Amino acid sequence: MQYLSTRGKISPIGFTQAVLMGLAEDGGLLLPRTIPRIGTDTFASWQKLSYADLAFEVMSRFVDDIPVSDFKDIINRSYDAFNAPDVTPVVHHGDLHILELFHGPTLAFKDIALQFLGNIFEYLLNRDNSILNIIGATSGDTGSAAIYGARGKARINIFIIHPHQRVSPVQEKQMTTVLDDNVFNIAIRGSFDDGQAIVKKIFNDIEFKTKYRLGAINSINWARVLAQVVYYVKSCLHVSTHEKDSSVDFAIPTGNFGDIFAGFIAKKMLPPGTIRQLILATNDNDILTRFVTKGDYSLAKVKITSSPSMDIQAASNFERYLYYLLDSDSSRTRELMEEFAKNGKIDLSGHHDHIRRDFVAAAVSEHEVIETIAAFFKEHEYILDPHTAVGVKAAQKYKKIGVPMVCLATAHPAKFGAVVEQAIGKSPDIPASLVGILEKPSRCELMDADKGKIQTFIADKAGTP
Ligand SMILES: *Cc1c(COP(=O)(O)O)cnc(C)c1O
Repeated sequence: MQYLSTRGKISPIGFTQAVLMGLAEDGGLLLPRTIPRIGTDTFASWQKLSYADLAFEVMSRFVDDIPVSDFKDIINRSYDAFNAPDVTPVVHHGDLHILELFHGPTLAFKDIALQFLGNIFEYLLNRDNSILNIIGATSGDTGSAAIYGARGKARINIFIIHPHQRVSPVQEKQMTTVLDDNVFNIAIRGSFDDGQAIVKKIFNDIEFKTKYRLGAINSINWARVLAQVVYYVKSCLHVSTHEKDSSVDFAIPTGNFGDIFAGFIAKKMLPPGTIRQLILATNDNDILTRFVTKGDYSLAKVKITSSPSMDIQAASNFERYLYYLLDSDSSRTRELMEEFAKNGKIDLSGHHDHIRRDFVAAAVSEHEVIETIAAFFKEHEYILDPHTAVGVKAAQKYKKIGVPMVCLATAHPAKFGAVVEQAIGKSPDIPASLVGILEKPSRCELMDADKGKIQTFIADKAGTP
């Protein structure tokens, strides 16, 4: 499989190069040249596969530059780290199927992609006899999932910057109690945006970037999207054994558009009609809902909500969908993304009909999040985390009788105990991996939000290729 940039200015590359490149060198995002189609018989034959075997069937169609046995081994090791029968179990409550994606080491769905990405990186670095220094800023969840994906890997160092005392105590400890030699936590006196800006500047220092071989782990890496396609396929297989109608709807709590874009790829891969509708659910940061309902993609100020991993305006994976929306016209994609970078908005209302064939959307208010967690608990004695509640509320709005609805549960409620307690009057049970975490020994460097100082710290600790 060859990969192309949405902005059309790089020559085609293979999967492993696409993974190592992350962001395309022309500033665009990488996409497979074609999306493989799965026939009805093949799809039916996957019914009884384990998660790892299904992951191999789905992902190997996009990968032809890693030997089969090596690729199988990478997948098996990635999903051994999950603490649930078959990695992503589905539970049934009322007329909804809840797809639990939070059984990985850090209790959020990002583990599914980042465990895999960590193992792919390790494999490629061994192959090339090289090293990688991963740098990222986090507002909470991505940092710990990335650290758990990279910890203990000989050829990788990982540097994660978080805003000092502005992540939850549990989130902080999930990062800083990882004491492996290759993990460096930096708390800055400043905000998440300060951290993000510093990371961007360091990446723009091409000499530094090349000398230390810097790598990114944000959700623009194609390997992350690809790993997420698997659980859409798995849920369709699962649901069709429970409900006769084989057409399925999905509700997806959305921030950077990575997870729902994986659903979009799954919809194109699977036999027509297998996935009927993708429901894009946002919190008060509703730019993507406005895009789907009106074709209005325009920035607003970021609002702080109870679902912080979705407190995002410019969605980093949006460009991938835009490229398909424009019928793979890379010049037009580049023009529009440049216009967006300049003006903070683009008008896509002319594409409204096309967008509405691909998605429906709903924005869910803070009040509705609390209400949804409370009502769901009252009715089903099942606790939703605030991100999942955003998706469930949107699902209830669009639920059609006779069409199975799968809601993606993206985080364990114990990660957001305070919000849950506000909704249901008690805190959720603490899973084993979080018991005692606040008392565990930790390691973290507290620094000013100063690019120069942070860069010096990284240069001191980082290896060179
Ligand atoms: C990252 C995240 C999301 C949003 O996923 P995107 O791929 O950014 O749209 C939703 N819920 C949780 C818990 C997350 O960590």
